[in-house]
Amino acid sequence: MRVPFFQSPWKFDKAAALRLAEVLSSGSYVAGHEGEAFESEFSDWLGGREVVGVNSGTDALFLALTALGIGSSDEVVLPSYTFIACLEAVVRVGAVPVLVDSMPESFLPGLEQIEPVVNSATRAILAVPLFGDTTGQMNLHAFCHRRGLLLIEDVAQACGGYIADEDGVHRLVGTLGHAAAFSFYPTKTLGAAGDGGAVGFDDPAHAERCRALRNHGLHRGEHCEIGINSRLDALQAGLLRLGLRNLDGNLKRRSEIADRYIRAMTDLPLLCLPQRSFGNAWNYFVVRHPHRDQLRLRLATLGVETRVYYSRPLHREPAYLRRFPAVRLPNSEKLAEQALALPLYPAMTTDQIDCVVDSVARACGSSLAAQT
Ligand SMILES: *Cc1c(COP(=O)(O)O)cnc(C)c1O
Repeated sequence: MRVPFFQSPWKFDKAAALRLAEVLSSGSYVAGHEGEAFESEFSDWLGGREVVGVNSGTDALFLALTALGIGSSDEVVLPSYTFIACLEAVVRVGAVPVLVDSMPESFLPGLEQIEPVVNSATRAILAVPLFGDTTGQMNLHAFCHRRGLLLIEDVAQACGGYIADEDGVHRLVGTLGHAAAFSFYPTKTLGAAGDGGAVGFDDPAHAERCRALRNHGLHRGEHCEIGINSRLDALQAGLLRLGLRNLDGNLKRRSEIADRYIRAMTDLPLLCLPQRSFGNAWNYFVVRHPHRDQLRLRLATLGVETRVYYSRPLHREPAYLRRFPAVRLPNSEKLAEQALALPLYPAMTTDQIDCVVDSVARACGSSLAAQT
């Protein structure tokens, strides 16, 4: 049996065909009616946040920072163990990125890592609930509030994840900060059939600025500031409206698969499982193993395709080495050597899930365990 790392839920079924036909015959292919309809439905799903549809999660980050007025001489704190787009956005707006380490037994930085680097130049924290794990997001929210910092959430991997606030009320991540970046890249919890993204805002004035920025800075007939072209494609918006209807069911399915994995894989030698945390969106199921590359090879032999998220922390990527020559972030560096993402997506069959469980148990068996 073969288990691909990811299979998209999209099929050319009746609903998709009708929607695509509708958009094609509308003649409006960029943003337009379909884009607005998606923005409004996604905004409702998020409990009323202002939503601006854009071209990708990467642009969503850049536009979120720009719309909030973050720029040169502002320091932005972000994890080193995350996707490269986070750092690109900070650098592109001309701000100063301050990379922090993750906690030793988690993929996320905590206040312990963040608080020491915050100073009078710090303008914003870029919070990334990586892999869907929302642990600590409420603490970050409270910290930013206390210290008068902007909170930008990169919820590219956590759309549908939530936390409980002080009163025990569930709140979706992406609605906690001043701005949130969403990605609809196909592997994300709400995936399009191509690139797409959105920015959510607390303040409608920031959303309005973002709306102009994504369309060449155009506002009431004038190019008021230097913008970009980052409008959401109407075909993608049309599909995303369909995807939104299945999102809650898909999130439930992800959580069931994660539960199954955790129950079945507990106590395998040397294997560290992700935490079964509250409100986790389970975009990716990432385990750690001291012999990660061998484990990966064995799983491949058994037909299970895996991916490495991420093979280097950002301060070790060649493009940024000159910027961070002396930075050492030991927990991130270790995670990059040990992390391995297993297949987890709603379209998995029961047989495929069983195959992953059995293969991981076999691959973690005696010889790999004896190597330490
Ligand atoms: C996917 C992702 C992005 C970028 O999204 P794209 O839509 O691929 O541009 C940004 N941040 C994180 C954490 C991501 O996983």
